[in-house]
Amino acid sequence: MQQKLLFLFGEFDNQLRKQKCSAGIKEMLLRGDWPTSPPLGFEIDRSKNKRQIVINAKGRLIRQAFEWKAYENVSNEVIRDRLAQRGLKLIHQRISEIFRNPFYCGLMVHNMLEGQVVVGNHEKLVSRELFLKVNGILDKISHGFSLNEENVHIPLKRFMFCAECEKPLSGYLNRKKNIYYYKCKTKACCNNKNADSLNSRFADILDFFKIDVAIDYIELLVEQVAATFNQLTQNKQADLLELENSHREIKRKVERLEERYIEEDLSQELYKKYHEKYSEEKKEIERNLLVLSSKSSNLVKCVRLAIEYATQLPLSWLSGDYHTKQQLQALLFPSGMSYDKKNDKVRTSEINLVFLYIAHFQQIMLKKERGIPELNLNYASFADSVAGSRIELPTSGL
Ligand SMILES: [Zn+2]
Repeated sequence: MQQKLLFLFGEFDNQLRKQKCSAGIKEMLLRGDWPTSPPLGFEIDRSKNKRQIVINAKGRLIRQAFEWKAYENVSNEVIRDRLAQRGLKLIHQRISEIFRNPFYCGLMVHNMLEGQVVVGNHEKLVSRELFLKVNGILDKISHGFSLNEENVHIPLKRFMFCAECEKPLSGYLNRKKNIYYYKCKTKACCNNKNADSLNSRFADILDFFKIDVAIDYIELLVEQVAATFNQLTQNKQADLLELENSHREIKRKVERLEERYIEEDLSQELYKKYHEKYSEEKKEIERNLLVLSSKSSNLVKCVRLAIEYATQLPLSWLSGDYHTKQQLQALLFPSGMSYDKKNDKVRTSEINLVFLYIAHFQQIMLKKERGIPELNLNYASFADSVAGSRIELPTSGL
């Protein structure tokens, strides 16, 4: 359920957000090609004149690890031993990382994809069923007791980074005082902070995104978010139309070119040159068409899910295990957060638009228009960052 929600969210957020990242790598990802070196167990094969990601010997061992976990339900410690006996030595944490990585079941998740999940062209190491089965087992375990007990105290590590040098903060336990701290990875930086204090600061921020209005208003909220979303997707409709036009155009150009070549109006050299050029253009247009039209359009259902999720939001972070906490953090604040030791301030450059809308409309409804001071977002700039229509307030009931 959680996975499904996160997927929907990513999809939703994507549709709202203007595609902005560097085209090349993102396009590669959208095509299903992993742009960098693949995870453990895979290697890049260039022997057939193209770049293919294939499973290697280590990968075959990792496949066994998935099977041991799914069918025998053995602990990661046992799996670690078995792998070591077969020559693959891994640390405990690495094993859970592997089990959580959907790349192994043929899917790609990448921060450039902003939450979208893409089917990769790489060899699938395990089936999706097997992957989900293993993750179901892992979730059950981590709800009972935590495998990484220590991390629960420092959930913001890696997510929070140093405002001074932009390095991620790590966490540690001061055993003498028995207190957890976050600290910048740069030695000279001396940016460290009591973990409980920074955690509760984060919880305070989450509180701004919690839905706190009566049921009637939740319906209104659903309608409003849906309306805003519709407005944004209208632009998408226009984009789609334009793309379809250019697709027709380029097909005509290719046809005309072929005609001229057959009629010997055109030299082979010129024909080749233009044919190549048009084919490239055509491919590019088709790729974009595919991306635009494949997006889910089940709008209201998606918004409802988002809002349902937001009602449980602060609690699910506070009571969640380390993994859940990290997922939530990344979902709400895709670029992470910075902590500035000098003025003791927390900042972020990006908030998931769905949650931003929810927080914004709620402030209007409750007439508490104050922005998010904890993130230095006053109401004016807060409202500015929320695009789309204003909410119509009902005259009675407030
Ligand atoms: Zn630093």
